[in-house]
Amino acid sequence: MTTNLLDYDLQGLTAYCEQLGEKRFRATQLFRWIHHKGATDFEQMTDLARSLREKLVGTSRVQGPKVVSRHDSADGTIKWLFDVGAGDVIETVFIPEADRGTLCISSQAGCAMGCRFCSTGHQGFSRNLTTGEIISQLWFAEHFLRQHLGREERVISNVVMMGMGEPLQNYSQLLPALKVMLDDHGYGLSRRRVTVSTSGVVPMIDRLARDCPVALAVSLHAPEDVLRDNLVPLNKKYPIAELLQACTRYQAAAPRDFITFEYCMLDGVNDQPEHARQLVSLMQAHATHGLSCKFNLIPFNPFPASGLTRSEMPQVVAFAKILMEAGIVTTVRKTRGDDIDAACGQLAGDVQDRTGVDRRMAAQRQGMLRGIKVVVVNRSEV
Ligand code: SAH
Ligand code: SF4
Repeated sequence: MTTNLLDYDLQGLTAYCEQLGEKRFRATQLFRWIHHKGATDFEQMTDLARSLREKLVGTSRVQGPKVVSRHDSADGTIKWLFDVGAGDVIETVFIPEADRGTLCISSQAGCAMGCRFCSTGHQGFSRNLTTGEIISQLWFAEHFLRQHLGREERVISNVVMMGMGEPLQNYSQLLPALKVMLDDHGYGLSRRRVTVSTSGVVPMIDRLARDCPVALAVSLHAPEDVLRDNLVPLNKKYPIAELLQACTRYQAAAPRDFITFEYCMLDGVNDQPEHARQLVSLMQAHATHGLSCKFNLIPFNPFPASGLTRSEMPQVVAFAKILMEAGIVTTVRKTRGDDIDAACGQLAGDVQDRTGVDRRMAAQRQGMLRGIKVVVVNRSEV
């Protein structure tokens, strides 16, 4: 079996080339061919010495993901399903906007965290993705889109680790993938434009701060432990106070001066004014230790097995107002690609038929929100 070069960050590729008896700078050239140009054929890499190209042909390959299908949404969102073997399928979503292109990447096949409101969580855990499987989602999407759109320059400007899986439960494979995203010889994304979203794996938040401090989004979903235990079972291991302390420590290294908290709005469960007031007190208590936060309210994307429903928009707006009046920057996330089941938490392929209700609600929502100045944003604006 040959080695898939997509499994390496630049440091790893350098070590690999040295093993082949090559100089370090050859690794940089090779890395650029792979990630800047999307090349898979070593013969095409004309500035590499013929002897190296011959060595590579016998030992190595650049193997992208196996595409199962592509779905194009009316709003420009594109979702790919990739086959990662043994019946496992993962999803990657591209969200275009006027000023940016965001790719939402998966880190695991399934997820072991079992959050009640998440379709991937209901599916259970299958396995960790390899570095190659993580980065090849970006490699594939970037080069596909350049060709598709006829563009020479970069299309994807932001990456969010918000697809399937808990990225911080797959840390060893995630880290080199993040390095490739940030590397100027790779994708050259700034730390602010790469976001790791986590349900709260406290020790790994500290490691990320040390090893590769990118933007951090934390899936909070509840203002107190009893409710959060129920929605995000990981909370029993790392309760809210510990999680927020880790966030405060992270901030010292973070590329942005705030941590984003994601909060999925579940009708009658966590969306009452009382919950908002509890959140305000919680955040104020941690602010005194130096935590500064931003909230991103996510309208719940329903799926039958959850038994949960989406909060009505007036409820979301009232909730946002309480946070904002307390001085907490709050946005409401716009649902993108829901006609192709590419919305947050739906990435498992197992979603019910959609009626026009969602679209009507979305239109209504936009109208209501305009009046009261709650900003509706995309997943990219975490
Ligand atoms: N495991 C990581 C990242 C993947 S989930 C995490 O939990 O943060 C990305 C985001 O989608 C999380 O904030 C998650 O809480 C949210 N999400 C999950 N299911 C959802 C659903 N059904 N509707 C809306 N958001 C959902
Ligand atoms: Fe896993 Fe995140 Fe879904 Fe929870 S919300 S089950 S951590 S993917």
